[in-house]
Amino acid sequence: MSATEHRFDQIASRPQDGIPFQRDAVTTIYERSVTGRRAFAAPPLDVPERPLDELIPAHLRRTTPAALPEVSEPEIVRHYNRLSKRNFDLDTGFYPLGSCTMKHNPKLHERVAGLPGNARLHPLQDPQRAQGALELMWNLQQSLGEIAGLPHVSLQPSAGSHGELAGLLLTRAYHEDRGGPRRTKVLTPDTAHGTNPATVTMAGYDVVKVGTNPDGGVDVDDLRSKADEQVACLMLTNPNTLGVFDANIEEIASIVHGVGATLYYDGANLNAIMGITRPGDMGFDIVHFNLHKSFTQPHGGGGPGAGPIAVSERIEPYLPKPQVVKREDGAFDLDEDRSKSIGKLRGFQGNYGVFVRSYAYIRSLGSEGLREASEVAVLNANYLLALLRREGVAEYLPAAFDRICMHEFVLSGAPMKRDLGLRTLDLAKRLLDHGVHPPTVYFPLLVDEALLLEPTETETKETLDHFAAVIAEILREAKADPEIARNAPYTTPVRRLDEAGAAKNPVIRQPL
Ligand SMILES: *Cc1c(COP(=O)(O)O)cnc(C)c1O
Repeated sequence: MSATEHRFDQIASRPQDGIPFQRDAVTTIYERSVTGRRAFAAPPLDVPERPLDELIPAHLRRTTPAALPEVSEPEIVRHYNRLSKRNFDLDTGFYPLGSCTMKHNPKLHERVAGLPGNARLHPLQDPQRAQGALELMWNLQQSLGEIAGLPHVSLQPSAGSHGELAGLLLTRAYHEDRGGPRRTKVLTPDTAHGTNPATVTMAGYDVVKVGTNPDGGVDVDDLRSKADEQVACLMLTNPNTLGVFDANIEEIASIVHGVGATLYYDGANLNAIMGITRPGDMGFDIVHFNLHKSFTQPHGGGGPGAGPIAVSERIEPYLPKPQVVKREDGAFDLDEDRSKSIGKLRGFQGNYGVFVRSYAYIRSLGSEGLREASEVAVLNANYLLALLRREGVAEYLPAAFDRICMHEFVLSGAPMKRDLGLRTLDLAKRLLDHGVHPPTVYFPLLVDEALLLEPTETETKETLDHFAAVIAEILREAKADPEIARNAPYTTPVRRLDEAGAAKNPVIRQPL
């Protein structure tokens, strides 16, 4: 064993005080299964029993029983408790993931979402018997419409990317209904979130990239040269993924509307602007929200989200159906009678539990509170940026844009790579050893060795100070010996993973 290897070994075992240990092997819930074991005794049936044939036609029923795990309650609890401890989540530590708004998810929201009237409502319940839920959805639509400055809202889309798809389907319906030239192109800035060009392709349009000016905004001359009658839409985020607010937005809107195209606002992340400015006021026609980012629905790990859309008057006729509406007599209803609608985007009405949490958030903060949340999000980002501009950090990790940021900012790890031989990925992995989740890395693509940080408004000054100190410490350590970071992490349940390999060769350990 070389000296260096020996030292890593010591680092790896430091938390265990040098006592040899065996990290527990991961077993799946299926490997814990023993035939006949149960965690749950169903209450006796309190409705008349009906033959299975009446409930599910024979040709739709499976012929062999599903391979479900059979485990006792303590085994289930231990299994998931153990998995949760191997994970890193917002309740574990600071999680400054840029663009994704990992803000605190207030626990009160879980109580509200878990109330029987919310959690036990059947999605096929008749609207007359689901007035409370429809009222909540209608109120949420009103609130989101107000926040966006666009009056008509559909809660159906299940994710930001799903909202984007809805927006492009609406754009297509709008152009087809109006007649005129066939439009085949959608413009996206080269700073766009990856879902934007993916959605454009999925919706059957050609992606046309628009360049970025030295300040980080849209290159308006490039936009003007590409905006023609074949353009259906420009998809934009403002502030964009560089954390830069585009002050040319009115000019951009007039160029886009000048060729008859729609202006789409990727509002996945509204953390910089809630209660301060509104996409509708900037001239946007369609916006999507990620309730699982700015509006506190817990996310990550593919959990349920919601990507509602808000649209202007001219787009309203095409909104998905059914729409949640308030009738003249004050009753709430599902309106299916929409002849120009693009149709239904998903089963039932959307992820209702998400609506409850986000509505609880909006109501508990109120408009003043939402504004304050955005102000503090921007303040926290600028505070952290200022800390990281200190000597010793900026030398290796300078800000990609030398200006005041919005809710997030980009650093470039290019000097760190050049002078220390350390990649952004190495820094990210070493952060895990300090109990901090890494920021977004290698995005936006525009910045070499990018590091995109979004501290959010729910973090304390002490947490931000600690994070800056940790970054400085890792750089100091790397100056002495970059190998340490290159082999990180040491303290996590698994060491450095072959991420491409994991994505390309997934191992499925579930009996089929
Ligand atoms: C997260 C995000 C999206 C995609 O949202 P999903 O819910 O993950 O589909 C789109 N655009 C931006 C700017 C985002 O941050």
